[in-house]
Amino acid sequence: MAMQVVQAVQAVHLESDAFLVCLNHALSTEKEEVMGLCIGELNDDTRLTPSELFTSILSSSCDVLIRGRTEWKFRQSSYLRPQQRQRLAELTGRPMRVVGWYHSHPHITVWPSHVDVRTQAMYQMMDQGFVGLIFSCFIEDKNTKTGRVLYTCFQSIQAQKSSEYERIEIPIHIVPHVSIGKVCLESAVELPKILCQEEQDAYRRIHSLTHLDSVTKIHNGSVFTKNLCSQMSAVSGPLLQWLEDRLEQNQHHLQELEQEKEELMQELSSLE
Ligand code: ZN
Repeated sequence: MAMQVVQAVQAVHLESDAFLVCLNHALSTEKEEVMGLCIGELNDDTRLTPSELFTSILSSSCDVLIRGRTEWKFRQSSYLRPQQRQRLAELTGRPMRVVGWYHSHPHITVWPSHVDVRTQAMYQMMDQGFVGLIFSCFIEDKNTKTGRVLYTCFQSIQAQKSSEYERIEIPIHIVPHVSIGKVCLESAVELPKILCQEEQDAYRRIHSLTHLDSVTKIHNGSVFTKNLCSQMSAVSGPLLQWLEDRLEQNQHHLQELEQEKEELMQELSSLE
């Protein structure tokens, strides 16, 4: 008998630094979909009925995966490797697990496709608290001519009168965060490396073909260089700028605190 797929999550809380990393990844390319995993913890404090576990997910991190057909690559990587799990626990001080997946929809609607809904249903069979996040980007508002990003969180449920699945929207809350978590910082810094690796792999695969004439080879080389350059302008450049801005902000904050400390020390010594 097929297992019933039900909505098991009440809400998702996504920390703003994890949100930023997802967004950075989603905006890295408009040519294809990107995907990654959400890492976090489950709070099952609101148990409604004994048979249904309602969960709220706190996702405090994300893991960038290799681009490609989401439904294939995901299978092999839906669970954290032991070293990864340990590293995450060390960094966050809490046990972490994969709680969901995210992927981008460049130039198309934010709503999950039939394939997305089926893929999601499959993961819910293994883990009913699993959620899916979609970031729709590179869509231009016709009136204002500005780009916009939409995002949604969903789970799949069994349709009423058929064996098909339907999507159900899960409320998602972005939790503000003053500082950026270590795990998120690592993911953010890892992103340009992964993207570069993918380009290199693709280039090497084509380059190893022996029957190519030299004009084609030169063309491929130029495409490779061009792709690396667009990555630098779309991902590495903004990331570097963002980190430099943060550094400046932090130094400014540090100065203010030093000043405050000085003042308090003076006040203290005048009391003695
Ligand atoms: Zn999709």
